[in-house]
Formats: sequence, structure tokens, C-alpha cells
Amino acid sequence: MFKIDMQYLCFMLSQLSQEIKYLQGVGPKRAELLNKELKIYSLYDLLYYFPYKYVDRTKYYTVREVSDSMPFVQILGKIQSLELVGEGSKARLTAVFADKTGTLDLIWFKGIKYVQPTLKPGAEFIVFGKPSNFNGRINIVHPELENPDEPKQNVSGSIQAFYNTSEKMKKNFLTSRAILKIQSNLFASLKGRIYETFPAWFVEKYKFMPLHDSLYAVHFPKDNDELRKARYRLKFEELFFIQLKILSLKSTRDRKYRGHVFSVIADHFNTFYNTCLPFEMTNAQKKVIREIRKDVGSGHQMNRLLQGDVGSGKTLVAIMSMLMAIDNKTQTCLMAPTEILAIQHFATIYAMMEPLNLNIKLLTGSTKIALRRIIHQELIEGKLDILIGTHALLEDKVAFKNLGFVVIDEQHRFGVAQRARLWNKNTIPPHILVMTATPIPRTLAMTVYGDLDVSVIDELPPGRKPIKTLHFHDNKRKQVYDFVRTEIEKGRQIYIVYPLIEESESLDYKNLQDGYDSVKRVFPDLKVSMVHGKMKPIDKDEEMKRFKNKESNILVSTTVIEVGVDVPNASVMIIESAERFGLSQLHQLRGRVGRGADQSYCILMSSYKLSRESTIRLETMVRTNDGFEIAETDLKLRGPGDLEGTQQSGIGFDLKIAQLGKDGEILSHARNVASDILSNDPDLLKDENNLFKQRLKELKKAQFNWSSIS
Ligand code: ADP
Ligand code: MG
Repeated sequence: MFKIDMQYLCFMLSQLSQEIKYLQGVGPKRAELLNKELKIYSLYDLLYYFPYKYVDRTKYYTVREVSDSMPFVQILGKIQSLELVGEGSKARLTAVFADKTGTLDLIWFKGIKYVQPTLKPGAEFIVFGKPSNFNGRINIVHPELENPDEPKQNVSGSIQAFYNTSEKMKKNFLTSRAILKIQSNLFASLKGRIYETFPAWFVEKYKFMPLHDSLYAVHFPKDNDELRKARYRLKFEELFFIQLKILSLKSTRDRKYRGHVFSVIADHFNTFYNTCLPFEMTNAQKKVIREIRKDVGSGHQMNRLLQGDVGSGKTLVAIMSMLMAIDNKTQTCLMAPTEILAIQHFATIYAMMEPLNLNIKLLTGSTKIALRRIIHQELIEGKLDILIGTHALLEDKVAFKNLGFVVIDEQHRFGVAQRARLWNKNTIPPHILVMTATPIPRTLAMTVYGDLDVSVIDELPPGRKPIKTLHFHDNKRKQVYDFVRTEIEKGRQIYIVYPLIEESESLDYKNLQDGYDSVKRVFPDLKVSMVHGKMKPIDKDEEMKRFKNKESNILVSTTVIEVGVDVPNASVMIIESAERFGLSQLHQLRGRVGRGADQSYCILMSSYKLSRESTIRLETMVRTNDGFEIAETDLKLRGPGDLEGTQQSGIGFDLKIAQLGKDGEILSHARNVASDILSNDPDLLKDENNLFKQRLKELKKAQFNWSSIS
């Protein structure tokens, strides 16, 4: 059984790896176009070049039924007469086409010399195309024609696949229809020799359509039901092997590395819990701490992703986890993406842990050399309990005596490689808790972070009022400023954020400066701060501090305040040119307010002219505060490749058929099935799983670049 499978595989690979130019109907010129425009080089590439849409051509219309609002129509009729006017590039060929109910015009501007000879008056055709209306008469420009007497050659009567093509391809008559023809030549030449990539038991158990049939049906579906089954099989396969890969890496890692065992909960944890906690933990926080507690007591090394919306209280979870580590005689560190955030964490943690008498220090790019030396020394001697900092923590000089627990905040800002360096800072790898406030849609989390265990804080601390979000056009600015005034009179503070992107940097800086000037003009009696990325870190921190200490009423800034900044007294977030921000960024910015007990507001200012996508983004923001819903919408709007975090994650997203935004259920199914298989046969050593093992080996070579921790 095993030998035969391998032969099949080799044969299949050899034939399908043939260059596309030798396929009937292709040749060198078309091959070059296919290479350049679609990156199709081999027969395999062509086979896996899937249609982007399908049109049901089982339905026929009569001429009388056709209107110009229909996207496509298909009609059976006869050519009545032909007329050619003009010459050369100005030529136009019009054919009057008739059935029993009436006539319409078929029109060609191009390819006339090829079509004209086929259009004999009286000849019967199936016509297919997009109807339009000219002077009250229906016409179809460049219709597809089929001869009803040659049903074998035709797509009419079936479901027609459509392929994306480029302008350049169309000019060279390499249209969607031409690709369909080439696909049909490919299947003819393969003569059914596409062999199953799933083991027979697997196909049987899950009732999959066989691979050959699925591939055929996806290009030449007989009906919708068949198409659905074929697409399911192909999507499942694509996602399944990714999951099998991720989960088998995870399982190998879990078995290979023993983690620190934190067996006790002792003084530090208990004292903190009993005397330092200023509030009751939410149930969600308690649940996550239990999950972490279970992990770190298990002997496995923990790799956990903690997702929690902005303001959900992730810091506290980090603190409690670090105390478990300290109670078990290990050191801990917390890494934040910016200096502002690191300082803020340091201040919070230092203040909250005051009674515990721990040695806590801050290390950033601006830490003085003398203090650095002390930190390095104390770390290696094991005297420093908690080190908080920026990526300065990653430097080789930062070496611990016994690092037990690592917290990484706002993880999407860090790359995989950086995380791996923290992992390598100890002989026994430390437990790692990665915290993100950018909710990641489940489907994406399962792929990008698929080998991390995921915890979710799905509850905000009590007493918070949901932030009210409003959208105004620029002409309502006066009312907005009036509102700002009343909030400030109540003692509140205001953020005003301007977009800043590289491509339009100088213009954006000008807008920021103009905005700052006009705010100062409108509120001459108030204190207005400004921060942006071009300022020296010291000045930036100084301005931030002023705002934090309520020494200024309004903070005008770029998105430097996006991540994690905590000023509970700020109650209004105004986002200028909100249409220019991405959804997750808008949501992050909104999370800067609503941190105190007062009603908070997020005001989205935009121009009148909005693209469809901007409109959806702003409407979504107004409708919901739920970070996960926002993340899902973002994924649907942008596709996974653009989402923050995916670029650094190390996996490419060139999925050929599955869509992470839409195929969540298939993905879950694939993940469960992969997990079942691995739990019975973690190294895929059983004969029945041999095909899986081979496939993973291929994938290892081709696709993935996972480091040991993600
Ligand atoms: P994030 O998850 O965005 O990092 P933080 O950890 O900064 O959120 O917490 C946001 C605010 O909520 C902080 O001011 C924190 O002190 C407060 N907080 C956290 N947990 C609770 C709780 N259980 N009850 C009340 N307030 C809490
Ligand atoms: Mg935070």
C-alpha cells in the first residue's frame, strides 16, 4: 500500500511539474503571458488556478425578457442580418439576433475578422453576455457564441467558471474563456491521473469528494451541489495541512521541552491578592489566571496568547502571573513595544507592588550606562525580580540567572524572531504570555498564532459606561468644539488625533500643525499639548506627562498614543480624517478613552466624500464597541494579508481557495480533525497516516518559517 502511494505521488508530481508551454493550446507566447501575469509556470499551477466566480448557464432567456439591468443573459436564437460599418480601428460589426419573441443587436469592435465569417444569416447560436441599452434598443457587446449542435464543446447548459485575467491577457485573447479551454485540454492530457492526497480511510470517513473529481468540478461544475462539495474538499485540504503542520510543531515542542514547574502559590501572590488589589478581579480575569496557573504547574512550557479588548485589564493578569513565577524562585520580565508604554507599566507595577519589597527595574534605550551595568549585574546574580522594558531586553547582555516567565505586551508590534530571542534566554525555556489588545479574529488566530494556546478576557471591569461613538462631517466642527468645551468644564480631558502616514508625511504634519494652531485659537484659555513621532523621546514623554498629570486639557497628536496609554480622566477622543484610518486602528484609538467611571465619547470627523469601505468602517465603529466584531469586519474588508501582525508572523497567506474571512467553519473542522489525528499518532508513524507525513515534509520545505515559539 505504502509503496504504491509513493509511486503515485512521484508520478503525479513529475507530470504536473511539466512546463505549461507544452500543453495543447498554450505554446511559448501564451506560456509567457501566463508566467508573467498569473505566475502560472507548471501544469500544477494551472490546475490550482481557481475560478473567482461562476455563472449559471443552465438558464435561458427570451429576447423579450432581457433588460439592461441584468448582469448576464443567455439566449438561443438566429442571426438575422449583418452589417459592417467603418474600417480598421473604427470598424463596427452589428448582427441582428432574433428569437420568436423579438430581436436585439450583437456588436463587435474587435476581432471582427475572426467572428464575421462564422456569422452566416440563418445560423443558430447560443449567445451569452451583458446586455446594455442604446437609444432604447438592447444590445450585447462582444458576446460569447456557441453552436447549439456541439454540446460537448460548450459551457452553455452548465455552470461556467470565470478566471481573473489581466488587461494584457485580454488584449492577446487570453480571456477567461480561453483559460477554461486550456483547463479542459489539461484534463484531457492528464487522463484522470490526478491521485488522491488523502488516505482512503480519510476520504471515506469524512465523505470527501475525491481529489480528481473535486479539481474537475471546480473548473467544470455540473451543478451547484457538486460545486459546493468540490470547493469544500479543496478548502478543507488547504486548511487541514496548515493546521496539521502547526499542531504537529506544537506537539513536538511540547514533548521536547520541559517547562518550569511552578508548584506553589505563596507569599507574594497571596499578599498581593489580599492587600494590594484595589478592586475585585473580573470573572474573566480570574478565569485566565486559572488557565495560566494550570499551564505553569503542568511541566509543559506555556505559550499563551492573551486577547482582551482595550481596557479589559490584561496588566493585572500579567502581574499575577509574574508573582507566581517569583513565588517559585524565578525571575520575570515584561516587554512593551514603546518607551512610553514601558514607563507606564513600570510606574503601575512599581506602585501596585510597593508592599511586596521586590526588586523591580526599568530598562529602555535611554537607560543610563551606569544603571544598565547595575541591572545586568543584578540580573545575572538573581537579585532582580522583575525587569520591565522595551526591546532593549532582547540584547545579549541582558542575561538572567533564572528567567521563569516572560510577558510580551501588544504583541503584534514584535516579530517572531524577537520572541524567539526571549525564549532562548534560559536553559529551561521561560513560560511566555503574549498579550494583545488587537482582537484577532478566531480564524486568523488559528493560523497565525495557531500553535499558541489562546485565552480571552471577554468582560470589561464593572462600572464602565460603553463609549458613545459619533460620526460628524467637517461642517459640524463648531458643535464638536462646543461639546469639547462643556466636557472640559466638567474637568475632563480631550484627545485629538491626526492621521500620519509615510506616503503623505509632510502634508500630514502640516495638517497636524494647523490643527494644533486652530485648537489653540479656539481655546485660548486652555492648555494644549502636542505629541508626534518627530519629537525627541524626552520631549514627547514630557508632553505626555503633562497631559497625564492634568496640566494640559487637550492633547493633539498623531497615532503615537495608539497603544496602551492610560489616562482615565480623558473622556473624549476626536479622530480627524477618520476615513483614513484602518478599523483596528480606530478601535485602538477609541480604547484610550472610557477608562474612568465617566461617560466617554469617540468622535469621528470626516469629509463628505467617502469610499464604500470608509463608510463601512465608520458605520461599524458607530454601531459596536466589540473588538472581535470589529476585527471580523476588518478581516472581511481587507483580507488577512493586510492585517497587522500577519506580515511579521512568518507565514505567507497565499491561500488558493480558502478565505480566512469566510471559511471559519471549515477551518475549525480542519483543525479539530488534525488535532484528532495527532492525538492518536503524534509523529504520524502509522501506515494509515503516511500520506499526511509525506505532505508535511513537502510543506516544511516550501512554505513555513516558524521559529520555535510561534
Ligand atoms: P488593558 O487590557 O487595555 O491593558 P489595563 O490592564 O491597562 O487594560 O486596565 C485598564 C484599567 O482598568 C486600568 O486602569 C486598571 O487599573 C483597571 N482595572 C483592571 N482590572 C480591573 C478590575 N477588575 N476592576 C476595576 N478596574 C480594573
Ligand atoms: Mg495594556
